[in-house]
Amino acid sequence: MDSIWINAPAKINIGLDVIRRRGDGYHEVKMIMQSIRLFDRLTLTKTKEPGIKLTTNLSYLPVNEDNLVYQSAKRLMDEFHLGGGLDIKLDKRIPVAAGMAGGSTDAASCMLAINDLYGLGLSKRHLMKRGVKLGADIPYCILKGTALSEGIGEKLSTIPAILIAKPNIHVSTKWVYTNLVLDEHTNHPDIDGMLASMKKRDLLSLSNQIGNVLESVTIPAYPQIAAIKECILQNGALGSLMSGSGPTVFGIFDDEDKAKKAFEDMKASGLARQIYLTRPFNQKIKSTRKNQRKR
Ligand code: ATP
Repeated sequence: MDSIWINAPAKINIGLDVIRRRGDGYHEVKMIMQSIRLFDRLTLTKTKEPGIKLTTNLSYLPVNEDNLVYQSAKRLMDEFHLGGGLDIKLDKRIPVAAGMAGGSTDAASCMLAINDLYGLGLSKRHLMKRGVKLGADIPYCILKGTALSEGIGEKLSTIPAILIAKPNIHVSTKWVYTNLVLDEHTNHPDIDGMLASMKKRDLLSLSNQIGNVLESVTIPAYPQIAAIKECILQNGALGSLMSGSGPTVFGIFDDEDKAKKAFEDMKASGLARQIYLTRPFNQKIKSTRKNQRKR
């Protein structure tokens, strides 16, 4: 492989707070970062002549050491004694000097691309450690997605991870509803309590209350569902539950590493046929414009 391209996404801040001014001139921040589908594109090509040659479609951008792309490439090439040279084409779409982390995301993507192109085998964490030396936003741009960013922007925590595991069985929804016994012994989940926790944004309390009345039918018939829940909870999930009439089980994690470990354990256990590590999809966007017109 001599050439690689990568899309570098812009970010917006869903929330941005400055906690205090530090003695060293930096500001301590608390921000929610969100990657968006607006990209710069980098194309990296190995060359015989040594050195980094950067070109860009914007004539006013620096193409020397002042460009973060150049700095990030040089850093990795020097550290890993990468022979030959590198031709980098930067196609900019993200507005420049616009609070969208354009330079940081280019640098982050450049590091990710070099990692691939030269087979360095560095994990994201290792790339983030190197990236923070060039800019506080670079670790986030390597991580991407939705994240809480603290410190001077370098302390990152991701919004909860969700593990999905489906065993290799088929459950008939009709059968489940037909066999559901609703009487005074039925253990009803506290849906209103869950709603109250959601309103308070209290994930822990929400996770403690989650419940699905249909588990009382499906789980006794398919014990592998209980085994999957057990595996998820043993890996430190805040909560785990069967979804719908089953057989899929999900786990809510507030820690990405725990979720990854659960994913691996689930794979190794052979309990589930389909396993995914994902995140909540929060797209509660109401059409306020329509309402405004009505007024
Ligand atoms: P942030 O949101 O992280 O504060 P920003 O979007 O405000 O960043 P950038 O677009 O990164 O700002 O650009 C800030 C300055 O950095 C520019 O004026 C430019 O000269 C310089 N710069 C260095 N490398 C790049 C790059 N790859 N893309 C854009 N600007 C760069």
